[in-house]
Amino acid sequence: MTSEHLIEGESLYAAARAQFLKAAQVMNLDPAVRTILEHPKNEICVNFPVLMDSGEFRIFRGYRIQHNNILGPYKGGIRYAPQVDLDEVKALAAWMTFKTALAGLPYGGAKGGITCKPGELSQNEQMRLTRRFTHALGSNIGPESDIPAPDMGTNSQHMVWMFDTFANSHGGSDRNRAKALVTGKSLACGGSEGREKATGQGVCYIIERWAKMAGLKTSELTLAVQGFGNVGYFTALIAQQMGMKVVAVHDHTGAVANVQGLDVAALKLHQDTTRSLNGFAGGETIAPEAFWDQKCVVLVPAAIENQLTSARAKRITAKVVVEGANGPTTREADVVLGERGITAIPDILANSGGVIVSFFEWVQNRNCEHWELEAVDRKLHELIIKAFENTVERAKRYKTDLRTGAYVVALERIAKAYAERGIFP
Ligand code: NAD
Repeated sequence: MTSEHLIEGESLYAAARAQFLKAAQVMNLDPAVRTILEHPKNEICVNFPVLMDSGEFRIFRGYRIQHNNILGPYKGGIRYAPQVDLDEVKALAAWMTFKTALAGLPYGGAKGGITCKPGELSQNEQMRLTRRFTHALGSNIGPESDIPAPDMGTNSQHMVWMFDTFANSHGGSDRNRAKALVTGKSLACGGSEGREKATGQGVCYIIERWAKMAGLKTSELTLAVQGFGNVGYFTALIAQQMGMKVVAVHDHTGAVANVQGLDVAALKLHQDTTRSLNGFAGGETIAPEAFWDQKCVVLVPAAIENQLTSARAKRITAKVVVEGANGPTTREADVVLGERGITAIPDILANSGGVIVSFFEWVQNRNCEHWELEAVDRKLHELIIKAFENTVERAKRYKTDLRTGAYVVALERIAKAYAERGIFP
């Protein structure tokens, strides 16, 4: 297959489906399992009114797509963004099924979201939106059945509102059970040490492991990071703490570069005070499109989908693309990367640190435990590196790319469960 055979701009779910079908073919997956996984189990769409600060009511649309739960409760984030629609949430839900299976977690996959512009909503409006959405989802979510987490546009505060709403409407008398409804909560409300930084931490463990395989020292690594939110910021910060040099950062407000390395904490302070990356004194403001031409060893797309297009993939200088975001690389770009000998470490592996530590948070909630940060990081390292090594092994065994290798690991686990349990009735 060459990049000319693919159509850039296809639906995100079609792209996600094609990735898993490639692995299904390579490994000769049971056709019944393939058919089941081609469609989400449940597609929940809710329209609900929210009182705005102006005194008016607005109708919002929210989604919860439950893709598969053969390995355990549905698990996946909640996204607040203007582009959220059924197709996007379906793709994100499917990726969660494969991500949790690859990491060896006792979870299935789901995703949710609300079509909205969170930046234009006050804190009170966001609270009413979140509580009303949680109420609308009702018993479709629950600590034993479907466990949400933060994603783009949401954070620990939104998770705490969700859990509090659920505790007051469905929680019963067990004050601890409701905490396990959501992960990514604040520490004061039952969150885990290390959850906020977990996705970025996992991305950095993967970069470190890839460098070892490529025979490079971490001090030789230069990084360009797209997105400076939860994933992008913590990836950049931890990479710098590990001795790597962050040479370019790009978000929706602009882009900055410095071949000597950007001071990540100072850049965050600048972003917090000016609401923009542009004008940062510790680097040069560059045109956003020039970000893709910056010289670097590692490129981390950690913003939104379809950012690494075939045209950009032809220009990048990196040796490895580590997908912090979900679906950042188009299928055409994937082909270009392959042709250029650039390694792509797929999203379902690279950004799985978030759901791995979410699992730790859920276990702590259910057992009324508190784990120290050192234990969380050690266990995260163990699981994500095991997933990396399994991925590399399957890619070698089937003479394929790492993305397909990662899907093979996930599909093996799912197929084994279906083979042993059978398909009801
Ligand atoms: P976030 O809302 O905290 O940050 C998103 C970042 O993307 C912001 O810096 C924003 O400026 C940037 N961005 C948005 N549109 C852009 C554009 N057109 N060009 C350049 N930059 C743009 O979100 P997040 O939680 O960091 O999530 C980022 C990605 O990582 C998403 O794909 C998400 O699904 C994925 N992810 C997140 C987690 C998590 O734990 N938060 C876990 C796994 C995967």
